[in-house]
Amino acid sequence: MFGFSIQKLLFTGLAIAAVWYAFKWLGRVQAEKTKVAREQARKMKDSAGSGPAARNSEPGVEDMVECPHCGAFVPADGSHRCDKLDQS
Ligand SMILES: [Zn+2]
Repeated sequence: MFGFSIQKLLFTGLAIAAVWYAFKWLGRVQAEKTKVAREQARKMKDSAGSGPAARNSEPGVEDMVECPHCGAFVPADGSHRCDKLDQS
């Protein structure tokens, strides 16, 4: 019943180690991806100059404002063309 052989213990240890290193490796890959994405966003921001998005610290984050005509939350840079406004 309790057959704790050295092979089973070794295999269990190896399996745990494999999972542990897989998670460590995944975390490193994820961190690398995040770093690359941040640097790309920073480069794009630098080339784009000072737009409304430039003052945001997080890349890809935009301020949203509520449209007074349709009530939808739209980007604050005024790119929203309101359907309700066109109809009236
Ligand atoms: Zn609208």
